Amino acid sequence: MKILVAASEAFPFCKTGGLGDVVGALSQTFSRIDEHEVVLFLPRYRSAGQGAFSFKAVPGNFLIPVGGAIETASIAMVHWGKITVYFIENSKYFDRPGIYRSNFGDYEDNDERFVFFSRAVLEGAKFIGFKPDVIHCHDWQTAIIPAYLKTLYRIDSFYVKTAVVFTIHNIAYQGMFPKETLLKAGFTWVDFTPDRLEFYGGINFMKAGIVFSDAVTTVSPSYAEEIKLKAEFGRGLEGILKYRSADLYGIINGIDDEIWDPASDTVIRRGYDAKSFLKGKSSCKKSLQHECGLPENKDMPLAGVVSRLDVQKGLDLIAGIIPEFVDKIQFVILGSGDSSIAESFSALSKNFPACVFFKSGFDETLAHKIYAGSDVFLMPSRFEPCGLSQMIAMRYGSLPVVTRTGGLKDTVRYDGEPKDSNGFAIDAPTYTGMHSVLGHIVSLFKYRELWNAMVKNAMSGAYSWSKSAEEYLKLFAATIQKKSNL
Ligand code: ADP
Repeated sequence: MKILVAASEAFPFCKTGGLGDVVGALSQTFSRIDEHEVVLFLPRYRSAGQGAFSFKAVPGNFLIPVGGAIETASIAMVHWGKITVYFIENSKYFDRPGIYRSNFGDYEDNDERFVFFSRAVLEGAKFIGFKPDVIHCHDWQTAIIPAYLKTLYRIDSFYVKTAVVFTIHNIAYQGMFPKETLLKAGFTWVDFTPDRLEFYGGINFMKAGIVFSDAVTTVSPSYAEEIKLKAEFGRGLEGILKYRSADLYGIINGIDDEIWDPASDTVIRRGYDAKSFLKGKSSCKKSLQHECGLPENKDMPLAGVVSRLDVQKGLDLIAGIIPEFVDKIQFVILGSGDSSIAESFSALSKNFPACVFFKSGFDETLAHKIYAGSDVFLMPSRFEPCGLSQMIAMRYGSLPVVTRTGGLKDTVRYDGEPKDSNGFAIDAPTYTGMHSVLGHIVSLFKYRELWNAMVKNAMSGAYSWSKSAEEYLKLFAATIQKKSNL
């Protein structure tokens, strides 16, 4: 199969969260199964690759209309394993400090930037002569590619057999813009109807992806149900998702088990695996306590957080409850995002320096150390499409504390019986639920045999991409077949 992946981020080139992890690892896994030919298109942000890769220019350039203007696109490529990554270049749109935002908020021309990118992917594939059997688009930034294929490119012979699959990573970010964006993107008013691109008087990129793709996926079976059935999860798109429910699939994410492997992780103090983790984990915990200026105490549970600071993640609950547990649990928190959440954790670390450490910012190295050095990992999300952090935490033997929603519900087992559990779960993100589960953790931590049985369960779980990547490939093949029968 010839697979073109189009996305706005992919680790290790550019990442702001789980989307980047998934696109990078999933694309690599595709290329390792049955010799599928995979190319990945990304924008060439200023920070993309950051000197770690050698970029080679593809000679020439091509033109992309954006509104009334004509913009120039060029391509640089990088060989990455069996994949070729094509970076779309345009300094006006991508040579900036951030990926989606500056310190003052989202870039105001994000509509134009991703209109340009999406169209440049379709023109770029022609430019390099890669005729895909399937295009796999991710999240709102590339969600208008399916709309292009079914409108402006409908009679383009290059794409006549190409199927398109759209994956929703987080429906909370839909790419909603005023109706003028419709014209910037090159669509016509004929497409501005409620069953196509129109959404409450504006244009909604994610809706375009749902309406025009041959198949739609999201990143866990439970989230697929939630966004279809409940307005608070579907965020206005539940109607269209229900309409497309025959073509909507929930495929659970995996994690990159080479990057996230406590046995070979070079960043952590001492490697360990599921068979013998006691010494390794306690050495990593000690080292983390030391690095964070916390007392070295092996008998007190250490709770870790590595997260975007966003109301989605239920971090306000954690901040609210910390003062109740300062003499019973140590907290190490790493996060970037919402400044008011950051301020509340900063204040806690100042007030309780012996039990709370907070670092604001994005820090891949510290993240590894937190997964390895913590006993529990707090993730009481209000909603969670899949969540990777709880799976990474489990692989590192840090027991996740989650809410029963979306992918958290599909990956964390908490049945009351520690020997059958791999983490802790509460039904809803409430103060009382969180208080009681943390209280339970404090008592259970004293029963090391039970605790270690849970750690072993967590570490022995299957979190790799192989099974889920096969599911995607099966879906691609079925979608291509269906299209060729039309
Ligand atoms: P989301 O995509 O909603 O942010 P996920 O749990 O799916 O959440 O993925 C989060 C990914 O981003 C994980 O790899 C996590 O380790 C990483 N991450 C989140 N915040 C930070 C941070 N401040 N520093 C380093 N890594 C982070």
